[in-house]
Formats: sequence, C-alpha cells, structure tokens
Amino acid sequence: MNEMYLKFLSRSENEVFARNVVAAFALPLNPTIAELSDVKTAVSEAVTNCIVHGYRNTEGWIELACRTEGSCLHIEISDSGRGIADLEQALMPFYTTLPDEERSGMGFTIMQTFMTDFSVRSEAGRGTTVRMSKRFGARAADDAR
Ligand code: ATP
Ligand code: MG
Repeated sequence: MNEMYLKFLSRSENEVFARNVVAAFALPLNPTIAELSDVKTAVSEAVTNCIVHGYRNTEGWIELACRTEGSCLHIEISDSGRGIADLEQALMPFYTTLPDEERSGMGFTIMQTFMTDFSVRSEAGRGTTVRMSKRFGARAADDAR
C-alpha cells in the first residue's frame, strides 16, 4: 500500500503536471505503456473538467489523492467549484454544457472506458469529486508481491 495527496491551482498547465505525477506514482506497479496511457488520459480529462467547468473563469484548488492496493491504483480528483446540477445528463456521451468551445462531451465517457472503476459525486454550488481505479495486469500483480 502506498498513498499520496496533492493540492494544486486550476491553471491549464497543471493538467500536464497532474497526469505526470499520477504516472510517476503508478510506476512501481509496473504498468504497461498502454495502461499508463489510459490512466494519464483519464486524469487529464478529470483535471480539465475541474479547470474548465468547476472553476470556469475563476481560479481554485484541485485536490488529487492516489492510493495503491496490490495491483490496483485508486485516484480521487476533486474541485470545490460550481458542481453539476444534473449528473445523469452530464454522464451521457456527447453531452456538454460548452458546445461552442470545441468540447465534445466525451470526458466522462473516456474516464469510464479507460478505467476499471469510475464514479462521480457532485453537488451544485459545492464541487465535484471523481473517483476511479485501474487494475493493472498480471505482470504488475506478480511484481507487487
Ligand atoms: P470534453 O470532455 O469532451 O472536452 P465536456 O467536458 O463538456 O467535453 P465531459 O467531460 O463528459 O464533457 O463533462 C460533461 C459535462 O459535465 C460538462 O459539459 C459539464 O457541464 C459537466 N462537468 C464535468 N465535470 C465538471 C466539474 N468538475 N464541475 C462542473 N461541471 C462539470
Ligand atoms: Mg470534459
């Protein structure tokens, strides 16, 4: 078991920062390039959502917590921004509240597809938390022992 926690500002350059931090943290689990790429993409989508939706036109804190458990990586990404009023709608593929800004509405769908587990909690006016985990392949499980 290993654990880390990080708090950073919702600036666009921190999307790259956050996904590389998670990738570095996951390395001891010996993920394949493809698995690592899935995790980095999912983290990018979650952090981008905090920046462009949660803290739209403002700056705030994004919190990132990671935990490893055997061959599994658990990730939690939270903002204290505007929150999501209708979560069921937000989770639908191609649904976006920013269609004019080249958003395709696929962020949540990508997280869901690329990770083993995925869930969102959100409260309008209070913020949003995305929890996701990735179980790495048999190779990682052997090495983690
Ligand atoms: P894309 O991710 O393809 O660029 P998108 O961000 O609009 O487009 P999703 O990531 O699937 O698509 O998110 C769907 C919708 O959920 C967003 O348009 C936004 O309204 C809402 N949303 C997602 N994350 C947050 C968040 N952290 N805070 C507030 N609203 C959010
Ligand atoms: Mg998105």
